[in-house]
Amino acid sequence: YSTSAAIEEPLTPSVKVDYTQLLINGKFVDSASGKTFPTLDPRTGNVIAHVAEGDSEDVDRAVAAARKAFDEGPWPKMTAYERSRILLRFADLLEKHNDEVATLETWDNGKPYEQAAKIEIPMVVRFFRYYAGWADKIHGLTVPADGEHHVQILHEPFGVAGQIIPWNFPLLMFAWKVAPALACGNTIVLKTAEQTPLSALYVAKLFLEAGLPPGVLNIISGFGPTAGAALSSHMDVDKLAFTGSTETGKIVLQLAAKSNLKPVTLELGGKSPFIVCEDADVEKAAELAHFALFFNQGQCCCAGSRTFVHERIYDQFLEKAKALAVNRVVGDPFKAGIQQGPQPYLAPPLLASCADTSLLNQIDTEQFEKILRYIRLGVDSGATLETGGERFGSTGYYVQPTVFSNVQDDMLIAKEEIFGPVQSILKFKDLGDVVRRANTTRYGLAAGVFTQNIDTANTLTRALRAGTVWVNCFDVFDAAIPFGGYKMSGQGREKGIYGLNSYLQVKAVVTPLKNP
Ligand code: ADP
Repeated sequence: YSTSAAIEEPLTPSVKVDYTQLLINGKFVDSASGKTFPTLDPRTGNVIAHVAEGDSEDVDRAVAAARKAFDEGPWPKMTAYERSRILLRFADLLEKHNDEVATLETWDNGKPYEQAAKIEIPMVVRFFRYYAGWADKIHGLTVPADGEHHVQILHEPFGVAGQIIPWNFPLLMFAWKVAPALACGNTIVLKTAEQTPLSALYVAKLFLEAGLPPGVLNIISGFGPTAGAALSSHMDVDKLAFTGSTETGKIVLQLAAKSNLKPVTLELGGKSPFIVCEDADVEKAAELAHFALFFNQGQCCCAGSRTFVHERIYDQFLEKAKALAVNRVVGDPFKAGIQQGPQPYLAPPLLASCADTSLLNQIDTEQFEKILRYIRLGVDSGATLETGGERFGSTGYYVQPTVFSNVQDDMLIAKEEIFGPVQSILKFKDLGDVVRRANTTRYGLAAGVFTQNIDTANTLTRALRAGTVWVNCFDVFDAAIPFGGYKMSGQGREKGIYGLNSYLQVKAVVTPLKNP
């Protein structure tokens, strides 16, 4: 690995952490319990800031504020054009503060600053502009019906949306949730991930500056089994949207069902196949497969984590894949040219601050430890460790870019989501074989196909059971493209026009053409 970037002396970020309280009813406030929890710098394990720890009482207060802003207005009663303008003003402010927000994102999450500043925050800006454009273009239908009736179909906001997001793309996930919900006229209580609370609080301030009325967007920092569960089971939340692991997705769906049966959108885990066909340009295929897995420290729900390579080009591909991993530049994410930073970390002792300690074992604490555990499992199950496999350096939570070859379908590293920089390479013989194997998974989030042959591409794109199939590309996330999972990767779709449906109720209004 490139050791050019020393990780022993981390650069000092150039922003101050100004917002650490909960945002309820347009004000930054302490939690009802007065408790806080530390958020950590994954480069060192040092505390960045102590953040207010929300729990059920805070969720109650936030939901009440959101309820009031919905029922009494002004939000759903504003003209759609006014709502759109607030979203656009927010996008402008975010664009202006791009570098500060990117700095917070990198500090809290560990992702390369260049990625946050040049790709992710601009994507968030674009995303808000996209949905701002929809706000005044949401209209219903009139439909023909038997008999003398005038039938209108109205599309109305749900009401209070509860939203729970993960730590891998803190602000992008915030955008995927908040933008469509607001565009449709809903109000929001959003719980950030306990690993990465900072960027959402910063941009909440920008929202207030943009003129968002109090109570329309409320933000709770806190833990899943406490604040997250309180939101999922709240009787006055009308709609729930969740992104995270499949295991937690099942929990929130149960909580929603047991409480008020609120509809739930779920974006869950994946074990996406990336299929390199016989005719592929091996060099390019290896580069794309590398990107598909290693992007964002391997922490993408749609990561191409099963690299299937045709037997005829397998050996050649393996050499290239290995070289790419060896040359991947790991280091302090604030340094220029860094491709991979540390994995986020929630140190076990800090979890003591989670109010209900009986729930602690449900929290998936140590992402970094979990990745290293999977690597050991891979070795023990007989896969060939081509490169990597260990912690990188001795400070912070860095993992060496790791490549396994000779991976078999029934190995755990080929079945379970690792969510780290670990590439598993599998060999296949023919298309029928690879389709069957690629689809033999409980997940169905995404798939990648690499081929020059249009027939092969068509065959694979039709046969793969996944919500997205990228052909000769990967991780293309335009705001207009719907995203979501087949099977246990989720329910519903986010982004694009499909993302609006999750936040709109459908009301049929039937009127006789002539008064009876
Ligand atoms: P990961 O394993 O990637 O951390 P999780 O699914 O555990 O993913 O976390 C995603 C989000 O779900 C986080 O905001 C987390 O706090 C929240 N969460 C975790 N457990 C629960 C729960 N029991 N109820 C509601 N939300 C939860």
